[in-house]
Amino acid sequence: MNKYRIWISPPHLSGKEIDFVKDAFDKNWITTMGDNVTGFENDLQSFLGGNSEVVALNSGTSALHLALMLLGVQKGDWVLCQDFTFAATINPVIYLEAKPVLIDSERLTWNLSPEYLEEAIIDCSRKGKKPKAIVWVNLYGMPAQIDEIQAIAQKYDIVLLEDAAESLGSAYKGQKCGTFGNASVISFNGNKIITSSSGGVFVSSDKALICRARFLASQARDTADWYQHSQIGYNYGMSNIVAGVGRGQMTVLEDRIVARRSINRYYRDVFASIPGITVHTEPDERFFSNHWLSCILVDPKQTDGVDCAFLREKLAEEGIESRFLWKPMHRQPIFENGHFYGEHVSDELFRTGLCLPSGSNLSTDELEEISSIIIKNIKRC
Ligand SMILES: *Cc1c(COP(=O)(O)O)cnc(C)c1O
Repeated sequence: MNKYRIWISPPHLSGKEIDFVKDAFDKNWITTMGDNVTGFENDLQSFLGGNSEVVALNSGTSALHLALMLLGVQKGDWVLCQDFTFAATINPVIYLEAKPVLIDSERLTWNLSPEYLEEAIIDCSRKGKKPKAIVWVNLYGMPAQIDEIQAIAQKYDIVLLEDAAESLGSAYKGQKCGTFGNASVISFNGNKIITSSSGGVFVSSDKALICRARFLASQARDTADWYQHSQIGYNYGMSNIVAGVGRGQMTVLEDRIVARRSINRYYRDVFASIPGITVHTEPDERFFSNHWLSCILVDPKQTDGVDCAFLREKLAEEGIESRFLWKPMHRQPIFENGHFYGEHVSDELFRTGLCLPSGSNLSTDELEEISSIIIKNIKRC
């Protein structure tokens, strides 16, 4: 477990979590539902703003599974999904025995390419398979080209699912990520910008969807004096203990966003004069990233052959964790024979990119150490 001294994105507690957890114990209310669950949902609703409502669940993955079901995805349907992401975005499509159709990224935000999205819709429709839903991700906290994606969804009348697992606190044109899809999903897994230890939420401004999400997440019990079921349900609710951790974390969310953004700023400044290293950041002022993870692209042509794999090794030797960018889904053994629309953007990002330590509890000394190891290894060559 102690492979690294400096982790990529460890939990960063506020100290207040334990009070909310203790409250659950004091009230002997440690199961699903309860004051912490309601409190956490309310805190998030006020943070997200607008008409969004929130249902607390036991993971981001179960939230995605529920969201796809609620948006009407069924066995045999085709679902257009961002190719460059974590497998948890796509797996729930498979749980439903639907088929993921993978779409490449564009270079500005590294997210779903509107161009290939439209091409895929036209091509699938020509094959007699109009896609049932579109799933996009705001990867590493960076909002996607949301206006363009929404316009395409509207033009072809296809519902949108926003995987905002990594982008709590990010915004696009002033509106918070996690509020853009017909349904959206946020994760509170241990490595995200804030954590409830594990957990996720389903978000929508559609009251009927919210109501159905609560129903399905708690075993789909009909209104009756006995246990009556006319649909298949799930046990996806968030525990009141877990929600206590989440409530404690909500008290410091704004601080965590400031800290991660200043880490991105630090990396940008320190690598500005190093040829061959580009820090991923917002293309223009419409995009506001929480910079959940700060990522660099390394161009070996400008670094005398030093690549991201070499830098990753050198950092690991010093006890510092770094990570390749997500391996594209169409390159994963589980999705290898899937449909893919695009060129090689996701491939290229995977080949040339590295996520650097980005936790809000990183010290200035640690940031200096990380960047100097990278610079030293590039200059030596
Ligand atoms: C973390 C993550 C998920 C899954 O969330 P869990 O809470 O871990 O189930 C889904 N999609 C993306 C993009 C993620 O980063």
